[in-house]
Amino acid sequence: MFKILRFPFQFTAMKNIFLLFFLSITFSTLAQTEATTVKKAPEVKEGIGPFAQLIIRGVTLIDGTGAPPVGPVDIVVRQNRIIRIETVGYPGVAIKPERRPRLEEGGKELDCSGMYLMPGFIDMHGHIGGSQAPIAEYVFKLWMAHGITTIREPSAGNGLDWTLEERDKSAKNLITAPRIKAYTVFGMGSKEPIATPEQARQWVNENFRKGADGIKFFGAPPAVMDAALRENKRLGLRSACHHTQVYVARWNVLNSAKAGLTSMEHWYGLPEALFTNKTVQDYRLDYNYQNEQHRFGDAGKLWKQAAPPFSEKWNAVMDTLLKLDFTIDPTFNIYEASRDLHRARRAEWHEEYTLPSLWEFYQPSKVSHGSYWHSWGTEEEVMWKENYRLWMTFINEYKNRGGRVTTGTDSGFIFQLYGFAFIRELELLREAGFHPLEVIRSATLFGAQALGMEKDLGSVEAGKLADFVIVEENPLQNLQVLYGTGAIHLTDDNRVVRVGGVKYTIKDGIIYDAKKLLADVKTMVAAEKARTGFVIKQPGVGESVIGNR
Ligand SMILES: [Zn+2]
Repeated sequence: MFKILRFPFQFTAMKNIFLLFFLSITFSTLAQTEATTVKKAPEVKEGIGPFAQLIIRGVTLIDGTGAPPVGPVDIVVRQNRIIRIETVGYPGVAIKPERRPRLEEGGKELDCSGMYLMPGFIDMHGHIGGSQAPIAEYVFKLWMAHGITTIREPSAGNGLDWTLEERDKSAKNLITAPRIKAYTVFGMGSKEPIATPEQARQWVNENFRKGADGIKFFGAPPAVMDAALRENKRLGLRSACHHTQVYVARWNVLNSAKAGLTSMEHWYGLPEALFTNKTVQDYRLDYNYQNEQHRFGDAGKLWKQAAPPFSEKWNAVMDTLLKLDFTIDPTFNIYEASRDLHRARRAEWHEEYTLPSLWEFYQPSKVSHGSYWHSWGTEEEVMWKENYRLWMTFINEYKNRGGRVTTGTDSGFIFQLYGFAFIRELELLREAGFHPLEVIRSATLFGAQALGMEKDLGSVEAGKLADFVIVEENPLQNLQVLYGTGAIHLTDDNRVVRVGGVKYTIKDGIIYDAKKLLADVKTMVAAEKARTGFVIKQPGVGESVIGNR
């Protein structure tokens, strides 16, 4: 998420043990480049296929382009490519067998009558674990169990070589994992601080040569940012930027977009581009960026300081970004604890699916990153609700004017769990004003476009790769049916049940039983709890406040 916070290009100089300790969260990504701690995914074949011919029968198709659902449809796949999409009847009418594509000898049929099929989901902001979740298999399976077949790793946090190795194994389907796009954190591996445009260009070329798919920036001095972005673009690579507060006063989203940045993460740097009566945020006067309550508390007051929705300045900035074909990856979910901490920490999946190490990492702390609720209550949450309203207004209108908004999560921080958080992100786009079909398009086609993969991915069309999400319930009517824990439903005979949860995730024509993947995760978490005797406890419960408030 916000792992690298200050002067990320100077990390190799960080030999001072005290400093390393003090900034251990800030620089965890960098530390990991030297000593990888995240366990790689095992090479075990878990799905079935691909097949010489696979026919998925009887689905209602939501194709990812914004087109309305159509069904029943049979989809024919050869190995890992979609060959044909055949509409075979009408709702409520028995399908005539002669209308259907014929199964060849040695072919495989998957009866999905009455189910809904979408393109594989794309998580544009997916860190593969980290010290808080040091098991790649755990993270990959949570993603795959929620239909995520492609992720962008925004920092290659376990080291570029580590990430490229997992990327290549995933590409060959040697491991159960989404496709991976590796965007190296700018400056990673550099022997010295990157202080000049020449050094920036040199690093960018080296990154390209090493095989990275792009760069993730956190900000840098303007001349360095400008040189790096232009060179990266010249090489044909893509980029992402989390504009940290320490750089936004002199380089915001508009500067980045004009220099060639292809996507912005989160939202920082955008309100700053919308200032009309100030040039820096109205920081509290005792503000210290290393105090996360200051950081997140003041961030919650930021959108209010920007030009109001539909004002001249607001329109001008939006139109400039639109002209540049700029992608916005808001990651709404990762800030949700700021407006509703209770909801985030009591999410029902924590008990069975959250690793003890993640739970510990989430707890309020002066040193853990993203654990900023030292004293967080009504005032902060109300402020953040307003912050969301203004932010969502911008994002929804950006989409309405033809802008590309994608779905990213940044899971592994602030109570947001891999996979589950992606579904929450879909719900938050819905809340921002997106039609559910627009939500699904953001989660699929727009992600593929932003990654430069739209020829192969992002929609269900003949010729594209066979990446699908299949679910028994209609996700347009209720996105919550995509949660691994399902949606609540009262039956006709008055029983409370759960419905939904992704049934099959198909990647490259290989069929994965999504519920089995989730069961594996549950087993991993139970084993870790048994080993450590860990029990989830809500923050502060049972701790005395006497003497040291
Ligand atoms: Zn991130």
